Amino acid sequence: MPRYYVLLGPPGAGKGTQAKVIAEKYDLVHVSSGDLFRDNLKRQTELGQLAQTYMSKGELVPDDVTIAMIRERLSRPDCVNGALLDGFPRTPAQADALAKMLTEFKGGVNLVPYISVPENLLVERLCGRWTCRSNGHVFHEKYNPPQIAGVCDLDGSELYQRDDDKSETVMNRIKVYAAQTSPLIEYYRKLNLLAEIDGTKSIEDVTAAMLAALEKA
Ligand code: ADP
Ligand code: AMP
Repeated sequence: MPRYYVLLGPPGAGKGTQAKVIAEKYDLVHVSSGDLFRDNLKRQTELGQLAQTYMSKGELVPDDVTIAMIRERLSRPDCVNGALLDGFPRTPAQADALAKMLTEFKGGVNLVPYISVPENLLVERLCGRWTCRSNGHVFHEKYNPPQIAGVCDLDGSELYQRDDDKSETVMNRIKVYAAQTSPLIEYYRKLNLLAEIDGTKSIEDVTAAMLAALEKA
């Protein structure tokens, strides 16, 4: 049976950072909705151009197009054994749609590791984030600096600062998370799927806590 994990947490909590480690360890495909939108934008697809009008303001892309994009991604052969979802779902309607599509794929959500980080730490994390242009690896100028400034340690490609990591957009993304995404904490708690993880610890300590939660699931 395929296994699906949903990484939940505010922007800057460390979802992408942890997803890279866990996906490798468990041989799962890392499906990041933000990366998929950015890839569409790079290729100048219609979806990418539409998404950009929302992403640039820190708003959510409408549910219908987001759900369709994820459904297409999860239907591909590399996801037959499941996936590690990062950034999706972000609304209760997306969570309902996910539950429905996973039953079609003969699976369901197995666990929702929720990386909790208070708001006051998020701005600094996001404003200091450097992202790898080719594969979305993430670094932080203070907390996880690359060996050579501006160069990804893992694949040598260029690191850049995302446009939506500027402080005005960051503030809006945090507000949007509180209003539209944080209800998912209770949504998954009620389903007994939530594993709360203290995201204020070091990257290594958070990884250890995530692995412990996944082992138990
Ligand atoms: P998300 O995917 O949840 O938006 P990221 O994984 O991109 O978050 O992390 C946001 C920023 O915070 C990155 O610059 C990353 O290097 C840094 N970061 C991630 N986890 C930690 C941590 N536990 N402590 C300090 N900084 C972290
Ligand atoms: P992220 O890379 O997860 O920080 O997402 C970057 C941006 O992409 C968000 O601010 C949204 O504009 C958009 N986005 C990513 N995932 C979703 C989603 N599940 N629903 C709606 N918009 C999304």
